[in-house]
Order: sequence, then C-alpha cells, then structure tokens
Amino acid sequence: MADPIHDGGLTRSEVEAARARAGWNELPEAETTGPLRVLLRQFSSFLVLILIVAALVAVALGEWIDAATIGLVVVLNAALGFVQEWKAETALASLRKLLSPQAMVLRDGQEKLVPAREIVPGDILILTSGAKIAADAALLRASDLRIDESILTGESMPVAKSLDEGRDRVFAGTAVSSGRAEARVTAIAGETEFGKIAHLTGSVGVKTTHLQRKLGQLARQLGLAALLVAAGVTALGLIVGRDLTEMVMTGLSLSVAMVPEGLPAVVTITLALGATAMVRQNALARRLQAVETLGAASVICTDKTGTLTENKMTATKVWTLDRQYDVTGTGYDPAGHIEAEGARLRFGDDPVLGALLQTGLHCSHARLVPAGKTWTMIGAPTEGALVTLAYKGWCDLPKERGVLAEIPFSSARKRMSVLYQSPDGVQVLTKGAPEQIVEICTQVLGQDGAKPLGAAERDAITRAYEEMAADGQRVIALASRAAPDHHIAEEELTFLGLVGLIDPPRAEVREAIASAQSAGIRVVMITGDSPITAAAIARQTGLKVKRQISGQELDEMDDGALREALGDGVLFARTKPEQKMRIVAALQAQDQIVAMTGDGVNDAPALKQADIGVSMGVRGTDVARDASDLVLLDDNFATIVRAIGEGRRQFANVRKFVRYLLSSNAGEVIALVVNIAIGGPLVFLATQILWMNLVTDGVTAVALGLEKGEPDQMAEPPRRKDSRILGPAGIGTIVVLGMYTGLSSLWIFFQLLDFGVELARTTAFTAMVVFEKVSVFAFRSLRHSNFRIGWFSNPFLLLALIVTLGAQVAAIYWPPLQALLRTVPIGWAEWQLIAAFALPILVVPELAKIALRRDQRT
Ligand code: ATP
Repeated sequence: MADPIHDGGLTRSEVEAARARAGWNELPEAETTGPLRVLLRQFSSFLVLILIVAALVAVALGEWIDAATIGLVVVLNAALGFVQEWKAETALASLRKLLSPQAMVLRDGQEKLVPAREIVPGDILILTSGAKIAADAALLRASDLRIDESILTGESMPVAKSLDEGRDRVFAGTAVSSGRAEARVTAIAGETEFGKIAHLTGSVGVKTTHLQRKLGQLARQLGLAALLVAAGVTALGLIVGRDLTEMVMTGLSLSVAMVPEGLPAVVTITLALGATAMVRQNALARRLQAVETLGAASVICTDKTGTLTENKMTATKVWTLDRQYDVTGTGYDPAGHIEAEGARLRFGDDPVLGALLQTGLHCSHARLVPAGKTWTMIGAPTEGALVTLAYKGWCDLPKERGVLAEIPFSSARKRMSVLYQSPDGVQVLTKGAPEQIVEICTQVLGQDGAKPLGAAERDAITRAYEEMAADGQRVIALASRAAPDHHIAEEELTFLGLVGLIDPPRAEVREAIASAQSAGIRVVMITGDSPITAAAIARQTGLKVKRQISGQELDEMDDGALREALGDGVLFARTKPEQKMRIVAALQAQDQIVAMTGDGVNDAPALKQADIGVSMGVRGTDVARDASDLVLLDDNFATIVRAIGEGRRQFANVRKFVRYLLSSNAGEVIALVVNIAIGGPLVFLATQILWMNLVTDGVTAVALGLEKGEPDQMAEPPRRKDSRILGPAGIGTIVVLGMYTGLSSLWIFFQLLDFGVELARTTAFTAMVVFEKVSVFAFRSLRHSNFRIGWFSNPFLLLALIVTLGAQVAAIYWPPLQALLRTVPIGWAEWQLIAAFALPILVVPELAKIALRRDQRT
C-alpha cells in the first residue's frame, strides 16, 4: 500500500476508471410513495366509504343520476386530493434531495467535499468528528479515533479504532464520535456492510404531525356524529310518515354536510408547501412537525460562532510578553502584514513571533488555496486565520506535513496539540483557549528567551486576553516545547503568545434578535467561547445580557438555581456541548418550547431533546444534522427567526381554513336541520352538498392556506403549547356565520318555493356557494380588516374564487352539469337577492374587526 502520509489520493482518471468498474456509491432508493399509491389512498378514506354507501343507496332507489353524480364527485375529489398530495410528496422529495450526504476526500493532493455517491473504491476519506462515513474503508492514519457503530451493531458506546489489526476498518453508515483519520475506501454501495442491511440516504420524516393527527381525529369524530345524526333524522322523518327516498337522501346530505372532507388533505398540502416556502428562506425542515412546532417556539438557544457571527476569522492582534503586533488585511487573503512599533516584521525578524507563527501554521489542518485573484480556505476558520497570519509573516511553508501524531481539538477540551517534525527537532505544538493553555505552561517565551511563567506573567497574559476579548475578539493562545522523546504530552509547555481574531457579527442578526424579542421569544446565547468575547458580541448584536454563567458555574448549580437563572438576559459561556442538554431540559420544565442550535457530534442529544433541534447546513456535522428537525442552509441565526415567522404563518393559516371549512359546513347543516324541523322539501340535494364541500370549498381552503403572514405576526407572544385550533372565539364565529348563511339560504328557498322547487333549490344552493366564497374574506385574517392586509394581496385566493364561482355558474347554466346537479337557470332577480344577502357577510366582519381593534387600542 502507498505511503499514507505522502499519498495525495486518487487522480481524476483513476476515479473515472474506478467508477466504470464499481459504479456509484448509492443504494436503491428507499421505498417511496409512488403516484399509484397516492391515487389509491384517495379512495380509502372514511368519506369515500360514506359516498359509496350513498351511491349504492341511490342505485337501490333507482336514482341513477344521483348515483352517477356521486360517482363523479368521488372521482373529482380523488383527483383534487391526488394533485394536492402528489404536490406534497414531490415537495418533500425535493427537500430530501437537499439532504443528500457528502464526504470529504483527498484527491489529486487536495481535500475536497464531494457528494457521497461519487465515492469510489480506492478514494481516501478524511474523517473528522461528527462525520457520517460514506463507505467501508481501511484506516491509513488515525488519531484518537472513536466510532459510533450503533447503527450496525446496536452497541451504543463508541468503539476505539486504530491501525492495529482487527480495529483498522470503518464502516459505511457509522459516524465518527471523536478524533480524526484518513482511510482508504474498500467497498461502496451494496458491497458495504451497511449496504447489505439498509439504505444510505438522508430522510425527511413523513410521520404525521400533531396537527394532522388532531385534525384527522376531529374529522373522524364529526364523521361519526354525522352518521348518528343522519340516522336519527331519517328515522324521525320515517316515524312522522315522510317519504322514504326523501328521508334517506336527506340523511345522506346531512352526513355529507357535517364532515369537513377536505381538511386532512388541506393540512398536508399546507404544511408541505410551508416547508418548501421555508427552504426558500434557507431553512430546511426535516420533519413536517418542525414547521408546526416552530410557530410556537418561545426560546431560541443559539451558539455564537457562525450563527450570530460570520465565522470568517481574521487575526488582527498578536500579543507576546514583550511586544505587541498589529495585523493588516482581511479574510483569508495573505495580502497584509504584521507590524510592531511602526515597522513591518517578517518571520526571521523576531524569534518569539517566528515561533508563534510556526505553531499556528503547523498545529492546524487548514489550508489556503489560490483561486484566481483571491484565496479560498479549506478547514476551520479559526485555523484558517492562523495559517493566513503565518503567510502574512512570510513563514516557510512545509513541502509536506511533518505531523507525527495529534491530540485532536474537541469543544470539551478547547485545545489541540500536534507532534511536529521540524528541521530543528521534534516539538509539541499546542493551541487553544487561553485558560486551557496557560494551565499547562510552565515557561513563557520573551525576546531574551524562555523564562518561568510566574504570577506577574500570568497577570499580564490575563489582562491582554481580557482586553482583546472585550472587543469581541476570539483569543487563541499558542504554546510549544521540544519533544526529543517523540512523546506528545500536553505539559510543561512554553507559552508563546495570544492571537486576537475578529469574527464580525452577521449584519442581519441585530434585526433578527430585535424581531425575536418583540415576538416574545427569548434568545439565549450558549457558546464555547469566553464570557468576555460572548458579552461583547451580545452587545454588538443588541442582545441584552444581565447575567453570564460559565460552564464551570453551571456544573456547580443545582436544577433549581439553574431554572431561576434562566430568567431574562442570561448568557452561557465556556460551556461544553454536554451542558446544552441540561439547559434545554430546564427550560422545558418551565413549559417553554425550545429551539436549540448545534453543530458538533456532542450536540446531538440536546438537539434531540429540544422541541426544535436546529443544525447547520454549512458548518454542521452529519451526526448533528441527523438529530435535528431543522437545518439552516446558511447557518444564520436570522434564518431561525424567519423560520419561526413562517411557522407562525402556517399555524395561523391552518386555523383560518379550519374555521372557514367548518363555518361553511355549519351553514349547510343548519339549513338542512331547520328545514326538516319545519317540514319543507329538501333545500339542498346530497349531490349539491358534495359539490359545495368537495369541489368549491376544498380549492378555496388551499388558497387560504397560502395567505401571507399577518403584519403583526411577530409582534405577538408565542402561542401556548396546548393552544387550540378552534377555541371559544373560533366556535362562536363558526356558529354565528353558520346561522346567518344557513338561515338566509333557507329564507331565500322558501321565498322562491312558489316559483317551483327546482328554482328555489338552485337559488338556495347558489346562494350558499356565494356566501361561502364571500365569507372567506372574513377568515383571511382573524384580526385584521381586509383594508389593512389588502383585498387583493392573495392572488391564489382570487384565482380560487374566480374558478369556483365560474364552476357554480357552469353548474346552473351548462346543461350536462344541470342534469347532474338537478339545477335550473336562475334569473337576474335571484342573483340580486343572493347579492343582497351576501353583502353583510362582506361588510359586518370588516366593521367588527375595525371596531375590535379600536377597542383594543383605547
Ligand atoms: P460556539 O459554541 O458559539 O460555536 P466556539 O466556536 O467558540 O463557540 P468551541 O468550538 O467549543 O466554541 O470552541 C471553544 C474554544 O476553543 C474557542 O473559544 C477557542 O478558544 C478554542 N478553539 C476553537 N477552535 C480551536 C481549534 N481549532 N484549535 C484550538 N482551539 C480552538
């Protein structure tokens, strides 16, 4: 086998040859829902069952036209349901694609991130903490490598791997818990151990959400109630001696009128379209449930680096015991220089600076690669900044990496070390958080050589550190020592100096924090960085902090004290990822709905525990992503706040169309029941009710689900976890509106009865459809008048109204539909009557809303 350290990986032609032999690294797609399945599902609902019974009854009674119409409605309903669900399925499928796994490989001597499916046997995988392994591979190098193989073996403890025989293989589908390694791919796709038992693709959960379950339940309950009421009414009618056919058809009409048939499909499509809308805002919901829960989020726990800040680090200050330096230039462009006391300095000009620059350069995995006129950085930004600093100081760049061993960085240890083969001998080079470095140093390097690290020197270091951090800079300390015994021990090091890195806050974060706060959402920063840096960034982003708690203090607090501390304005710094879990649990114990960000492998438990686990699309690890509900495609805090806004919009829209659909149904039921009570002929036929509920209302409800967010949706506190979709106000509106539309159409029916029952019924039927369409304006916002949100601001709704009203005109003037729905043409006078009754539905809710808001303001 080739020398692992000098091996630059496969070349492009080798990759192509291997691919021709072995194919792509992918497994047959997991079973997805095909169109046929979605179509069949349309015929398996409770509603269709009722309809089939209705059709059979119609056949038995010799009502052929009714039977045919019911058949037609079933088909139309299935077609609508199919279009909606298929749209939802394809939306979810494209979200799933966005989650396809990637892998870091070494090819042509360069590290590259490639889609996991492009991996071929012979590729060198670079494995870092949190990465999901894309193929079976044999280790070439490994430092402190531990792998979570639970997916293959069920063993929950991570397994240590090394180059020793029997421990030197890693498997596809497993994940790196800690450490770093390079490994040569031995098997891909179906040939891997994992491939033999499972599939590799990332998944978007399609489990039904809480809301879907609750609404499904509501629909079923109403269905059952409908059957009982219908049976009761039919029996009653028969007892008082009414015609059998008429009563059976009335019973059927009633049951059809009571069930909100469109509801489950409308919820699914609304949530799926909501998830698609969120992707456009850079938030990818891995579960539909997330869209729903997001709207109720009351606390966002966020990390700092990369989420609140840009994660583009630039070294601006260097501090050593006897000398301080300023650094010019921005980003990872080596154009810039290091100066002290007005003079530009280079690597050879200053031994302390030289040692510090060398340590930063070699104790790092980052690399700068020229890309046209600019440079790109591969690796962690903190390290990238140190490498760039070394370039600015004209350090000698090594032809090959002389790293013999490594103790990798972890967020818990907050430092890392390498054993480095320098031209002057073997050295331990260490870098990390200043507290963690000072602790293991016994000497400090000055212009006159090394001297013991005494109290005065420690004080000087602390002062310098605090001063840099107070500016919001991230401070990294560097240290080294000779290691003639080739032993990598983090002890008795010589302190070299501090480097201050600026990482500016993201421009949009200030506004996002303000928006979260006005929406009653608490923002809690939890960072691994120092309290001083964290407080400075909080200040720069407008996050008010009254209390800072360090990881150590947190460990000393009991749960009661923690809960108390979690009031307004708390910030956690120098935390370990494991501590996030405790913070989430404490917040949840206070009934908060918690969104928690995380990117590392140790963040996974907290992400799972949180109501909404938020992982990072750019910076995050596969393990964190797998544990999360929401992936931020741009790692940006502002995206969480936008996603919450989107979640609130979705929930509000579900509320709107549920109320809309139920109030339409209520109107129909009231008309039917009152009519039976006073003994009139059937006011609506079963087929007409089906037409209203399935053909015209469903389409309108979907359009209502696409309403834009309300102007003040982020000015309200979050909804409570158990807040109801209906509630007393909702039920009140449904009853009042239902009474009005039901009784008005019944009144119209009786007014016209003398001109023939067909004309009366057609007019009442059309009146009901028009009322339902007009009433939609009352539900567009539950609080704002249409003048505020704009009458024409939802084009989908306008389109739905035009289409459904057009369909109704066809239903009464187009002979084939006339035959099916038993309608007759109505005249100008009837239209005027309908319009007169429809007008108050448009006007009264507007006036009520305006009055109510004025009331609230005074
Ligand atoms: P956040 O939790 O907000 O993302 P963070 O990135 O600072 O903040 P960690 O990644 O846990 O959190 O880093 C903690 C500290 O460890 C940093 O403040 C820094 O001092 C040090 N550190 C970070 N990266 C490295 C690295 N590659 N090598 C050595 N030390 C590092």
